[in-house]
Amino acid sequence: MSRLKRIYHADAYDTGRPVGSYWEAVTPAPAVDPCLNGDIETDVAVIGAGFTGLSAALHLAKDHGFAPVVLDAAPVGWGASGRNAGFNCMGGGKISDAAYARRWGTEDLGVFYRAQVRATQVVDDVLSAQGIDADVQPRGEWLMAHRPKDFDGFAQDAAFLNKVAGVKSEIIPKTALREHGVNGAGFHGAMWSDVGFCLNPQKYVFGLADAVRKAGGRICANTTVEGIEQLSDGRFALYTAQGRVVAEKLVLAGNGYNSDNLPHWMGGRYTPVVSHIMVTEPMGDNVLADQGWRVNQMTCDTRKMLHYFRLLPDGRMLFGMRGTPNLGPRDRARMPSAVRADFDAMFPAWRGVRTAYHWSGLICVARNLVPYVGPIGGWSGAFTAMAFHGNGVSMGSYTGKLMAGMVAGKPYEEPLPDGMQAEPARYPFARVRRWGLPAAFKWYGWQDR
Ligand SMILES: Cc1cc2nc3c(=O)[nH]c(=O)nc-3n(C[C@H](O)[C@H](O)[C@H](O)COP(=O)(O)OP(=O)(O)OC[C@H]3O[C@@H](n4cnc5c(N)ncnc54)[C@H](O)[C@@H]3O)c2cc1C
Repeated sequence: MSRLKRIYHADAYDTGRPVGSYWEAVTPAPAVDPCLNGDIETDVAVIGAGFTGLSAALHLAKDHGFAPVVLDAAPVGWGASGRNAGFNCMGGGKISDAAYARRWGTEDLGVFYRAQVRATQVVDDVLSAQGIDADVQPRGEWLMAHRPKDFDGFAQDAAFLNKVAGVKSEIIPKTALREHGVNGAGFHGAMWSDVGFCLNPQKYVFGLADAVRKAGGRICANTTVEGIEQLSDGRFALYTAQGRVVAEKLVLAGNGYNSDNLPHWMGGRYTPVVSHIMVTEPMGDNVLADQGWRVNQMTCDTRKMLHYFRLLPDGRMLFGMRGTPNLGPRDRARMPSAVRADFDAMFPAWRGVRTAYHWSGLICVARNLVPYVGPIGGWSGAFTAMAFHGNGVSMGSYTGKLMAGMVAGKPYEEPLPDGMQAEPARYPFARVRRWGLPAAFKWYGWQDR
C-alpha cells in the first residue's frame, strides 16, 4: 500500500493499467529498464522518467559531467510524456498577457515568450544532437478562432509575437480556410505561426532515455520513491521498496503525477487535470477532402476549454480536450462519447469515421497559471520543474535543461523569466482542490461563449 498522498482515483496512478494509446500501437516498445536492486549512492537522483526528468538527466550527463540515476514508478514515458498529442509548441502557462505583465512587468513577459520559443528549439536541438527519429511533421502551428472577436484580435497578437519573440505569423480569413486545408465547422479564421512542430511523443521519450543511458546515466523503472529526507550531511535519501538511493543532489520531475507528501513542500502547490485524446481510423484523401482538411501541422482553437487536433502521418485525426474532474471508471466510461460529440460538431463530414483509440492522462496546473522551475523550498541542492499547463513537450524539455544548470551551479544560458521562478503558491482547501474543477470548467466554458 503506497504512502503517497494523491488526489485522484487510484486508477490514474495504476502503472499496471494499459494506457491504450495510438502511440503504443505504432511505436516499438524498448526493453523495460530493470528496477533498483539494493542500496546505491549517486551524485544526482532524478525522480520521473518523462521529458523533464530525462532532459535534466541528459543535460546533467552531457553538459555537466554527472552520472544521474533516474527513478520512475513505471517504465520510461508511462506518465504524460508517452501519451500526449506530440505538439512541440509555444505555451506552458494559462495566464493572460495582461495579468502576467501586471505581476512581473512587460519586459519579463517578453522574456517568457522568448523562453517559450527557445523551448521548442531545445527539443529540435536534442533530436538532432542525439539522432532521435521522432516522426517530426512540418513546422508551424495553427490557431483557429472559435469566435469572430478572437479572429479580430489575431493581427494584434501576431504583431506582438513578432515584436517580443521574432515569430512570423500569417492570418487567414474564414473564406480562405478550405483552400488552406484547415476547414472545420465554427472556425472564424486562423493564425498560422512559424514555430514548433508535431512529433511522436513515445519515440521522443524513448530516444531521450537511450541518450541518457549512452551518456552514462542509469534508469531504474518500476521503482516508486515512497519518501525523501535530507540527511545531516546535506545529501538526500530516497526510499523505495527495492533499496535506498543516497544522492548529493535531487531533481523531482513528477508534474501531474506528483504526490502531496513527496516532499511535504509539494502539498497543494499543483493541481493535476485530466486531458483526453481520441484518434480515428485512417482516412483516405477523398474523406479528408470531404471536410476540407489537408495540413499535418499542430492545430488548436481559441477556447479556454481548449480543443487540440492534428492529422497523423497515416491519415488518422487526433483530437483532444479536457473535461472530467477525476479519472476513475465512471469518468473513463463517460468521456469517449463527450470527446466524440465535440469532434463531430467540429468535423461534421467525418461523422461516419470510426474512433480507433481513446485514452487519458494527467497534466499539471499551478495556482498562478505559470510554469515553475527552481528550488524545492527548504532544501538546498533540490530542484523541481512542473505546471506546464498541458504544454510539457517543449517546456519539460526546456526546464529539464535549466534544472541541470541549477544542479551544476552554472548560470543560465537560456531565457528564464522571473514569472517562472516564482514559488508556486498553495491552493486554498488543498485537500479538496479537485472538487473545484467542475466549477472552473464551467467558468472557462462560460468565458468561451
Ligand atoms: C492527453 C494529454 C495530451 C497532451 N498533449 C500535449 C501536447 O500535445 N503538447 C505538449 O507540449 N504537452 C502535452 N501534454 C502535456 C505533457 O504531456 C506534459 O506536460 C509532459 O509530458 C510532462 O512531462 P514530465 O516529464 O514533467 O511529467 P510526466 O511525463 O507526467 O512524468 C512524470 C513521471 O514521474 C513519475 N513519478 C511520479 N511520482 C513518482 C514517485 N514517487 N516515484 C517514482 N516515479 C514517480 C511518474 O511515474 C511519471 O512517469 C499532454 C498531456 C496529456 C495527458
